[in-house]
Amino acid sequence: MRILPVLGTFSLSAALLVAPSPALAGGSAPALGPTATGYGGAVSTVDPTATAVGLDVLRRGGNAVDAAVAAAATLGVTEPFSAGIGGGGFFVYYDARKRSVQTIDGRETGPATMRETHFIDPADGQPYDFAEARVSGLSVGAPGTLATWESATRKWGTRSLASLLQPAARVADRGFPVDATFRQQIADNAAAFGQFDSTSSLYLPGGAPPAVGSTQRNPDLADTYRLIARQGTDVLYRGAVARDIVRTVQDPPVSETPVGTWAYPIRPGTLTLSDLARYRVNHPAPTRSDFRNLTVYGMSTPSSGGVAVSEALNILETAKLSKADVAKALHYYLEASALSFADRNRYVGAYTPQPVLKRLVSDSWAQQRACQISPTAALTKPVPPGDLNATGCTPAAVGGPTEQGQSTTNLTVADRWGNIVEYTFTIEQTGGNAMVVPGRGFLLNNELTDFNFTNTQAPAADPNLPGPGKRPRSSMSPTIVLQDGKPFLALGSPGGATIITTVLQILLNRVVLGQSLPEAMAAPRASQRNTAGIQAEPAFRTTYGPALIARGHSFAADVPELGAATAIEFTRNGGFIASAEPVRRGGGAAGVVHPAR
Ligand code: GLU
Repeated sequence: MRILPVLGTFSLSAALLVAPSPALAGGSAPALGPTATGYGGAVSTVDPTATAVGLDVLRRGGNAVDAAVAAAATLGVTEPFSAGIGGGGFFVYYDARKRSVQTIDGRETGPATMRETHFIDPADGQPYDFAEARVSGLSVGAPGTLATWESATRKWGTRSLASLLQPAARVADRGFPVDATFRQQIADNAAAFGQFDSTSSLYLPGGAPPAVGSTQRNPDLADTYRLIARQGTDVLYRGAVARDIVRTVQDPPVSETPVGTWAYPIRPGTLTLSDLARYRVNHPAPTRSDFRNLTVYGMSTPSSGGVAVSEALNILETAKLSKADVAKALHYYLEASALSFADRNRYVGAYTPQPVLKRLVSDSWAQQRACQISPTAALTKPVPPGDLNATGCTPAAVGGPTEQGQSTTNLTVADRWGNIVEYTFTIEQTGGNAMVVPGRGFLLNNELTDFNFTNTQAPAADPNLPGPGKRPRSSMSPTIVLQDGKPFLALGSPGGATIITTVLQILLNRVVLGQSLPEAMAAPRASQRNTAGIQAEPAFRTTYGPALIARGHSFAADVPELGAATAIEFTRNGGFIASAEPVRRGGGAAGVVHPAR
């Protein structure tokens, strides 16, 4: 998020957890760059303050889970438009002692009263415009982030959640420097934020986004974190904070003196106190697939990330790909992405039966899908989803459109014992539903807009329509890769449905094209989600466009950037290569406990 000079040996005040830290006091941010190599543990996030907090927990003997939760709580302060306790996410954990991968599904959950027509305007029978649905109470699911932190620390951590919230509370109190990304995210949301005094008083001081370099404080959020520390997470699911969430959803705190105008009515939602009280995290088994000598673990439903990444990797494995022919490898990457998106759209939602998921990640299914790919001529997009009952290449009916989000944040942590956390969490759009819960300092999610508003797969069934107490399908793809049974790579990214292709492309760059991890992260990206034109960063199109167009691919309009990934690679001698974005979203912050000299 903030670009700052890279430093060799980074040291944040060890007193961070117990006493004011000069490094974080009013307006200065610790300096950390996009790559760090060394020993003793590693942290990669989009933000130097969050990375510093995570490193400090590791230095003081905490494990990867402790550090991840402390860093995540800090991101709730410094990246409030991407993530926080008003949202949800997916937490993937590698336990070094047990040599097993476990997950937490902390996805937001729709109200018990939600029906398939949730986003249909009763006045005219038409679906709401996305923006109207987003900035409303209708889009808010019961948040899962705090329950995720509690579950992770209880099951696998060594510190209390209460203690892990303290550094973030101090950052919220003291403030942090506003950078260009933070300011821009507010500017992009000014019309929506301006409708709610609780949001505009925090993020539109004097009616405009704060100046770059000014200090952003959030004392209400500091108080909320401390209240949770004192009373436990129940305060957000059953207590005073729960009541404030429900009031905000059911009676949106629309300003009598808004800043700017909003084109839509701001509709109330139906989330209730019992929906919050009923919220539970789940612990689904991770998805698992093999690619060459690697075992790839990902997030299962309600995320489509693990299934789609696995299917695409399996398809890639059917071709002989290597760095000797980059254009061929990218051609297969784009074809494999399109095919797996067609299947994801048709089959994957919160309630997809296990046998279907198993089939989609199987090698035999990959063969059936891959046999359509020609090495020289691109398939016409959209490609139809595969027919689960077929035994050959026969496809079924035409696929539906793909959605795309823009927000979310990702972090990767490893500790000296070899435990790993890969965690992606979100409030959906940048700025969530635009409503800061009055007096509590955090934005609510608009995650329920990840449901399809109408059937995209007709005449077939759409697996991602709203339903009572249902979780919307996600694309979040926190991924942990083992090589010969030992940790090799952990990675994840934000970016809505492009998350799947970003994770896939980084794996392709690293494993097939033989790039170093920092090269694989920096390389220009493209995303083919089963649409006519490939969405690509300008550098991808100019570098690889001619060779791909010659194979029959076409490009949609360029997008400035795709994703904001974080990753850690595990070296053979027990070291870490922590990697964050060098440029995208203003650049991320990677750090290690003991830097290599
Ligand atoms: N809500 C999206 C998902 O769960 C993530 C949003 C984003 O990364 O932009 O897939």
